Amino acid sequence: MESALCIQNLCKQYKNGTVALNDVSMNVNVGDFFALLGPNGAGKSTLINTIAFLSKQTAGCINVYGFDQERQKNKVKSLIGLVPQEFNFNILENPFEIVVNQARFYGIRKSVAKKRAEALLKELDLWGKRSVMAMSLSGGMKRRLMIARALVHQPTLLLLDEPTAGVDIEIRKSMWNFLREKNLEGMTIILTTHYLEEAETLCNKVAIINKGKILVCDEMQKLLINHQDKKLIIDLQMPLPISPEIEGCRFNFISDLVYEVEILQGYELGALLAQFDRHKINIKAVRNLNNRLETLFLEHVTKGKEYGYATDV
Ligand code: ADP
Ligand code: MG
Repeated sequence: MESALCIQNLCKQYKNGTVALNDVSMNVNVGDFFALLGPNGAGKSTLINTIAFLSKQTAGCINVYGFDQERQKNKVKSLIGLVPQEFNFNILENPFEIVVNQARFYGIRKSVAKKRAEALLKELDLWGKRSVMAMSLSGGMKRRLMIARALVHQPTLLLLDEPTAGVDIEIRKSMWNFLREKNLEGMTIILTTHYLEEAETLCNKVAIINKGKILVCDEMQKLLINHQDKKLIIDLQMPLPISPEIEGCRFNFISDLVYEVEILQGYELGALLAQFDRHKINIKAVRNLNNRLETLFLEHVTKGKEYGYATDV
């Protein structure tokens, strides 16, 4: 499979001594929708910014679609679109100007730039706001404006640093649809997010980074399969006289109407539900204890040491 991004032994030490990236190596294939997860301060933005030339690595190399990021800078710049974590457009300009001016940076003719800006602003539902000062846009609109701006030179690798932070769920979902469509059209996308549900919904690959080190990097499906739900929460219609005993699971009392159910290995929820019925356990609702990715994330980030990962930097 063709590589869209290949990072080898990347290190970044800021001038104040902070080591933000500690020997990061990873590969992203063409067409991947890649999630980069990690707690605050993990190094996600540093990694994204280093790929996009906003920060300079201390060591290591980056290849984008086979081009060396340092030696073939202009080519690589033309391939990358960046949506940074912080708003960084001129708030006194309007969305149309912001997108058109960005295109001009890439040497795109004004007539072409205007057409593309119009198409993108329409697609991102910002056309009605094209002439208002950017400072008057809502948070969600500002994020979408940064996406429009990042796409105007038609990059093939899109880097999104927390694009949905603070965006309400409805707008977030329309952004998901937009990004999914771009990905289906062939764009490679790397996304950092704190919404694990977002990563699980959109992405086919995932890496977890903590303290500048990649802890895991794999296909989403593979990681999740190894972390099947083992615990569920059930809401009862009526309190039970005694804690039930059913082969294949363990009931943990939470409150009169709520139990945690641990499903033991080799047993299926479907078969157990039939058993519940027979034991007159009337269930109102069954829900996951946790988002599966959340469980995985917490395990890696909080128990990294026990797994033998180097956590000191
Ligand atoms: P994340 O995006 O995962 O929250 P960052 O890449 O922003 O993490 O930060 C990684 C580490 O580098 C943190 O310890 C942060 O404080 C530090 N850091 C980030 N930017 C700078 C900077 N410009 N100067 C010094 N340290 C920085
Ligand atoms: Mg960040």
